[in-house]
Amino acid sequence: MHFSGLTNYVAIFSDITDIKRSQQKLQHMVQHDALTGLANRSFLNAQLERAIAVAQRHRSMLAVAFIDLDRFKSINDCMGHPAGDELLQRFAERLQSSVRKVDLVARISGDEFVVLIEDVVKKEDALIAVKKLMEVFTDSFLISGQELRVTGSIGVSVFPDDGENSLSLMRNADVAMYSAKRNGRNTYEFYREDMSVAMLEHVLLENALRGALQREELSLVYQPQINIKDGRIIGAEVLLRWCYPQVGNVSPDVFIPMAENNGLIHAIGAWVLEHACLQVKSWQSKGLTIGRMAINVAAPQLMHINYIRDVEKILLRTGVSPQSLEFEVTESSIIEDTEQAIRQIERVRALGIEFAMDDFGTGYSSLSYLKKLPINRLKIDRSFVSNLPYAKDEAAIAEAIIAMSKALELEVIAEGVESAEQAMFLLNHGCAEAQGYYYSKPVSAVEIEKMMIAGNIFKYLKDGAA
Ligand code: C2E
Ligand code: CA
Ligand code: CA
Repeated sequence: MHFSGLTNYVAIFSDITDIKRSQQKLQHMVQHDALTGLANRSFLNAQLERAIAVAQRHRSMLAVAFIDLDRFKSINDCMGHPAGDELLQRFAERLQSSVRKVDLVARISGDEFVVLIEDVVKKEDALIAVKKLMEVFTDSFLISGQELRVTGSIGVSVFPDDGENSLSLMRNADVAMYSAKRNGRNTYEFYREDMSVAMLEHVLLENALRGALQREELSLVYQPQINIKDGRIIGAEVLLRWCYPQVGNVSPDVFIPMAENNGLIHAIGAWVLEHACLQVKSWQSKGLTIGRMAINVAAPQLMHINYIRDVEKILLRTGVSPQSLEFEVTESSIIEDTEQAIRQIERVRALGIEFAMDDFGTGYSSLSYLKKLPINRLKIDRSFVSNLPYAKDEAAIAEAIIAMSKALELEVIAEGVESAEQAMFLLNHGCAEAQGYYYSKPVSAVEIEKMMIAGNIFKYLKDGAA
């Protein structure tokens, strides 16, 4: 057979284009994220280094915007991973179309995106660009036939002010993003130096919390719950305290969210339940009854698959009667997956434990969903109590909650009662139970034991004020 030189030449030529094409393809694969087609982390880093060099030469600025979707995990958990993936793809498209051609958009991990904004002349330019970025959250997404409103938190760092290399710019944009999350999400923040300090403190504290149980730094205090009419103690809420020697007392409003985030809440929550039960038993052995012991339960605890089993074990181990326990859950913890929350509450109630809805009025409660919830009691949030009876709006809300509880045949208690006027208002409007500084701050087991022995020590307070 005879091959012409020319044919051979063509063959080699097409080989080269193939190689070139597959090289380009390979390069694209190496530089981009397979799911969204956006730049990946390593390509972003290379581009950021290059952009920094350019900015240095031209004495110009650039900005790094770090974007994190809020609560993406729960979307994934509730709607499934394919829906989560689809959302990421739609979001990536929208993000890409919201920036200028020169700006690089990257996806650096699960639900984290970065936009590299070049050619920034003054900080205001970056601000305009970031405000434009926030607009990607305005319209909802249509995912698997469901309309989804997605929000995100954006943190921004600017070269050269907030960092001189890609590492520090990325880290500080991340710190700013984290600060935006802590400021209630769905917002943006530009990096400030004091953010790093706050972040460092947070990380150190979170690490310290990991050892708090072993080092026996946790303790419990009890705040009495009172029958307003006769001043008798009808129960107590158990509240957790953490004394970390290096800093002193850390507020549960600070460390409980940390524990929820890093999973420690399961061990800590079990510890609280066990020790509260042991306390109830110890009082019983002295012939004292606290009535009901109210225990705060965080959403991740309630939703955990092993939760019912763990509660059951503690009940058995401590021998406490479940009828003397009441779990407090917040509205917001139930809203994320209402159906599953209802199932879990029903399982716990089957053990004999009652439920109260904590911080009531601050969440999304609609009457229709309240009716479905298997709870026994509403706990009026202290924000509606603190300005009673003078603030009209709050008085109206408190009244409405009491009326709602009556209509739904639920019991009702008010928290944060600080004055006789507040107690009287509540009583006159049909709320017979209260808890708050007016009666007592949270106190040690020994202190509340004294109150239990003394009986209705709060009666005179009320009578005196009435
Ligand atoms: P919470 O469940 O709403 O607890 C009531 C908080 O209000 C307590 O703060 C209590 O000290 C405070 N308080 C009580 N009476 C008054 C009053 O008259 N006026 C004012 N201004 N405040 C009053 P604390 O102990 O700092 O607890 C804060 C939050 O930490 C609790 O809010 C609860 O959400 C969480 N927490 C505390 N202990 C635990 C726990 O063992 N497990 C879980 N999951 N969360 C807990
Ligand atoms: Ca509570
Ligand atoms: Ca509360």
